[in-house]
Amino acid sequence: MDTPNTPEIAGLLTVVQRESVLLAPYAMHTRDSRGRKFPESEHPYRGIYQRDRDRIIHSSAYRRLSGKMQVFTGEMGDYHRTRLTHTQEVASIARTIGRALRLNEDLIEALALFHDIGHPPFGHAGEDVLNECLVDHGGFSHNRYGLTLAEELEIRYTQHRGLNLSHEVLDGQADRVDKQAEDRKPLLEVQLVDAADSVTYDAHDVDDAVKLGLVTLEDLSETQLIRDVISRVKRRWTDLNDDLLRKAVVKDMIDMQVGNLLQHCGNYLMDAEFDNSEAARKSDFRVGPDPELTEAKSELERFLYARVYRHPQIVEVRNVAQSQLREAFHGFMEKPLLLPRHYQRRAEEIGLHRTVGDYLAGMTDRFFRQQHERLFSE
Ligand code: MG
Repeated sequence: MDTPNTPEIAGLLTVVQRESVLLAPYAMHTRDSRGRKFPESEHPYRGIYQRDRDRIIHSSAYRRLSGKMQVFTGEMGDYHRTRLTHTQEVASIARTIGRALRLNEDLIEALALFHDIGHPPFGHAGEDVLNECLVDHGGFSHNRYGLTLAEELEIRYTQHRGLNLSHEVLDGQADRVDKQAEDRKPLLEVQLVDAADSVTYDAHDVDDAVKLGLVTLEDLSETQLIRDVISRVKRRWTDLNDDLLRKAVVKDMIDMQVGNLLQHCGNYLMDAEFDNSEAARKSDFRVGPDPELTEAKSELERFLYARVYRHPQIVEVRNVAQSQLREAFHGFMEKPLLLPRHYQRRAEEIGLHRTVGDYLAGMTDRFFRQQHERLFSE
């Protein structure tokens, strides 16, 4: 196993010591970690979740997020978020909230950087096609594919496949696979990343959609949330041009949502006095904004769904991408020798259908288009 360089460093506080000073009792403490599937020696100055974060950042799947679309594609300009910059915004917002609530920031960062790693090319449009192609072979979910990447497809060690991430990060990701499950009891850190994801995309999808001209702020003012944000911003600054107004709106959206969440959750956690992460996890408490903001966010999300995610410009890109993905899936099924060698070997292990799904899901949008053009276009 990997033995870290161990310099003698004077005055070093161990991770467990730091956490005992800084974290709340209800946080997930490193001392309570269930460790890793393949045990490893401890690192002198990086805790288990910091090492997870580093493994994620250095993985090839993480780097490929830069070539994967969030909502808008490369042809639409270069202002908007990619899956990678979305991920970084989520991590930043999640850490801010986590620090204020005295949760485990290292675990939060690892979970946040990992949360979208399994997205196939073309986001949910791609996911829907792969799910349809694999309907008789277990279906496809980007959240489950994140686990496949971390446990099987990323090769970093000779002793085992995968990144050997901690059980807490893997369980947190496994929990995302079925968010409707009744017996779902994730750690507060896992819940928080989910909430931060929602804070982030509600804000940046408004920004990107307005910047790209798909909707205007005036259109968005149909929703209570944006109406309130705009009137707050205009009370503060009276002479904003359109560009600065949009930016001020996005800033206020993040600030307001984070503030609401902190107040709502902070008060509850103070009163509840959970003794440990297990007690918090098993309680009925859920990290999120207060009920009023939850409702306002739903209204905004319904608007975004109808007017942005279903905008004719986006639907067109979606349709082309989906039919190309379908062609590529069936193309590889018919000619498996077109797959790279190690995927051909993988097909002997797990079957051709799932292998083709895994191969396509790993691709960036651009690499997919190149492959499609080269191998399957008429
Ligand atoms: Mg996300």
